[in-house]
Amino acid sequence: MPNNDFVLGLKCRVCGKLYPKAANFFCPDDSAPLEVAYDYAKIAPHVSKTKFASRPRNMWRYRELLPLDGEPTVGPQVGGTPLVRADRLADALGVERLWIKNDAVNFPTLSFKDRVVSVALSKAREFGMRMVGCASTGNLANSVAALGASAGLETVILVPADLEKTKIYGTAVYGAKVVKVAGTYDQVNRLCTQIVMEYGWGFVNVNLRPFYAEGSKTVGFEIAEDLGWRLPQHVVCPMAGGALIGKVHKAFNELSQLGLVNGPVTTKMYGAQAAGCNPISDCVKSNRERHKPVRTPNTICKSLAIGDPADGYFAANLIRSTGGWAEDVSDAEIVECMQLLAKTEGIFAETAGGTTLAVARKLIESGRIPRDEEIVICVTGNGLKTQDAVFEALDEPATIKPNLAEFKALAGLEVAEPALA
Ligand SMILES: *Cc1c(COP(=O)(O)O)cnc(C)c1O
Ligand SMILES: [Zn+2]
Repeated sequence: MPNNDFVLGLKCRVCGKLYPKAANFFCPDDSAPLEVAYDYAKIAPHVSKTKFASRPRNMWRYRELLPLDGEPTVGPQVGGTPLVRADRLADALGVERLWIKNDAVNFPTLSFKDRVVSVALSKAREFGMRMVGCASTGNLANSVAALGASAGLETVILVPADLEKTKIYGTAVYGAKVVKVAGTYDQVNRLCTQIVMEYGWGFVNVNLRPFYAEGSKTVGFEIAEDLGWRLPQHVVCPMAGGALIGKVHKAFNELSQLGLVNGPVTTKMYGAQAAGCNPISDCVKSNRERHKPVRTPNTICKSLAIGDPADGYFAANLIRSTGGWAEDVSDAEIVECMQLLAKTEGIFAETAGGTTLAVARKLIESGRIPRDEEIVICVTGNGLKTQDAVFEALDEPATIKPNLAEFKALAGLEVAEPALA
């Protein structure tokens, strides 16, 4: 595959200096993060809508716009999740055209992290790395462990000790070495940077981060393709480290630049966080240039609980430059919206999904997102992983003896259907 000369190298996101395509992640001149840079003129003759559509429905159909040198060797089936027309939810919110990008059913670990990890680990193998890992708020841990196992890589995964049990055991089951760290995500992440410096292992969100982040673009490519190669007017994304929201927009820009969608990108991007850990939304709302780190995150939405997000500055800038906005919501609103999404669309999203929907609702109610324009809400993780968050809000089901009389005695189950003859 000629993909390698489509990639120019890794470019500093502040000074623009170009570095070789290697496990580099920051610019020594200004400590800013690096990003994969492509030669779009070279790519253009090799891509078309029909070529993409002729390939299997997974994220790799857009492989010319991903930074691998060869075929993907980790997670070849990842992506291709549904874009769901959400009319019942639209009615509940009082909007006209609403879509859910449902990565709660991404393969194999039920979150959008499988997209970023399959790129990062395929790249790790191209670099000849055998030992890989990550710092994680949960979903990344699941994904690195599962995809690492499927590729025969050794995995070491560091998580904050207070993470949901389901996410810790849902990582250990794959044979990963899981280490619980008594500290916040930011402390875990700092430790991972030291481990990378000491051992040279491939940590997907540290030294493989420029490659990892590119995987998020496929969410944007899929949204555009499923809309018939059109861009929506408004996209609401959850924000943890702040990479996803920027990469969805980068994807739209690439499609526009390559002539695969018409005209310049006018999509407004909106970021969602929990009130208990809102560094990026606070930065946008208070019109500050840089975010103020949140020292002690406190929310049920643990997957988004990054107090000092690596891409915080860039996410806030992007949101402003597109004319979008950011908001944050309480834990009660998160739980309420997990239920709203489940009841209206039959989609059980994790706490991050509840956060994103609750923020979308808040932005619609405040008039930031107009009711008569097209809106896409990104659901990024599965509710089965964070069931504890909703259990307390639900009624305990009634228990009866196995006879019809007791069943009939239950109130509220009179359904007006003709009895079977
Ligand atoms: C990691 C994660 C995000 C946000 O990703 P960033 O790119 O770090 O902003 C959103 N939703 C879920 C469920 C996640 O696990
Ligand atoms: Zn630089």
